[in-house]
Amino acid sequence: MERKELNRAAWRHLRARVKAANPACAACGSPSRLEADHIIPPKLGGTDHPSNLQVLCRTCNAIKGNRIMSIAAIRAKLAQQAPAVPPPRTVYTGRPARPWQPITGDYSTRRPTP
Ligand SMILES: [Zn+2]
Repeated sequence: MERKELNRAAWRHLRARVKAANPACAACGSPSRLEADHIIPPKLGGTDHPSNLQVLCRTCNAIKGNRIMSIAAIRAKLAQQAPAVPPPRTVYTGRPARPWQPITGDYSTRRPTP
């Protein structure tokens, strides 16, 4: 198929339609920071036809870059990049930690004698 350049407005419209139809990244399933990607990049002869478009998140699109890459290959690369164990998350509240408080009252596990 002959490459037909879309003007900016037509491209924006098509991109929005493709993203509305595919609300998650085709590779990792992320619903955020989605971009319309040319499966075959325009530089390699790919067209703006919807059949040449897929939705990828920014991370997966950055992995794919300007080349032809299968979804499986993107996933494999993504798995290589992701740390095996995610770093622990600490939540900083901005308040000093509360000092330890002794527990008061009777907390014996003995049944009360009737
Ligand atoms: Zn992704």
